Amino acid sequence: MGNYKDVEDIRSAFEADLKSIDNIKSLDEMRVKYAGKKGVLTLALKSLGKLPADERPQAGQELNILRDEIERELEAKKIAINNLENERKELSEKIDVTLPARGRDCGAFHPVMQTMYEIAEIMTGLGYSIALGPEKEEEFYNFECLNIPAWHPARDMQDTFYFPDNIESDNGKINRTLLRTHTSPVQVRSMLKYGAPLRVVCPGKVYRRDNDPTHSPMFNQMEGLLIDKDVSFAVLKGTIGEMMNAFFGRNLKNRFRASYFPFTEPSMELDIECVECGGHDAHCRICKGTGWLEVAGMGMVHPNVIRAGGIDPEIYNGFAFGIGLDRMAMLKYNINDLRLLFDGNVSYFLSGRSNRSERRAESC
Ligand SMILES: [Zn+2]
Repeated sequence: MGNYKDVEDIRSAFEADLKSIDNIKSLDEMRVKYAGKKGVLTLALKSLGKLPADERPQAGQELNILRDEIERELEAKKIAINNLENERKELSEKIDVTLPARGRDCGAFHPVMQTMYEIAEIMTGLGYSIALGPEKEEEFYNFECLNIPAWHPARDMQDTFYFPDNIESDNGKINRTLLRTHTSPVQVRSMLKYGAPLRVVCPGKVYRRDNDPTHSPMFNQMEGLLIDKDVSFAVLKGTIGEMMNAFFGRNLKNRFRASYFPFTEPSMELDIECVECGGHDAHCRICKGTGWLEVAGMGMVHPNVIRAGGIDPEIYNGFAFGIGLDRMAMLKYNINDLRLLFDGNVSYFLSGRSNRSERRAESC
């Protein structure tokens, strides 16, 4: 290209150096070596003064051209090295989609919630709606509407927690407030709200002043209510039997025993065959060898309750039932201590104390 010998020397030295560069750090060092303040080019430009005067312009021009070339090539090399490094990085971080997944701990519904959802699904399948109500309830709805006046002995069985504030109820009376002892007030509220005919189930938390290995001060109930014309005991027996069979996944023998509840008349309790031993184990821990499990209370709704719900008991009748969701969960998932349901330590369920729970945990 030019005649100035130094320019050619610098160019060939630069080209040779550039070939061996494969990383940014070496490239930066090279930039300093050639284009830096004390670099080869700067020194060459400074030495122009030693040349004969007629050669200087030509040599100066060639050096300037060379400097531009060198800067362009350094920039091009920088881009090339960056591209190469990105490629290398991508290759090392490439995701192998054929590798098996590491897996993830998965959560699950609490057995009681699971039970509640299962039974709610069965009942909605039978045409029932789901109704919810307040846990902080008025004494009026919790007791009086349900045929349990203040003097009634059933109040002792359902002693609960009262709040210091009283409120004026829909009936115009000043009412004490309490934690509801059952979900039955939701039945009355539903009758007042929707009228007859009516089919509802009322799941939820209820409270009583109990605390021992088989009773908790808070537990979960689901009640059902059907109001229509000419409802018979047979409809109730069919409905509750169907619900139990669907929940436990097989046909269970059942028996009905006469009982007493203030809000139903007549009243009865349902026993189903023991889900653990089917009545074949005299030492069964679940049924204590009786072969039967007490699972629900029910009856034909008392006319006073229907009246409290704003419906004429001369035209409509119906039935109501109540089940303990905690007990149902314990029976279905083989949980042997009520208190485990309120324990946050899931290892109880996974440690082999409960085989059925363990299987569920694995299958999720
Ligand atoms: Zn049994």
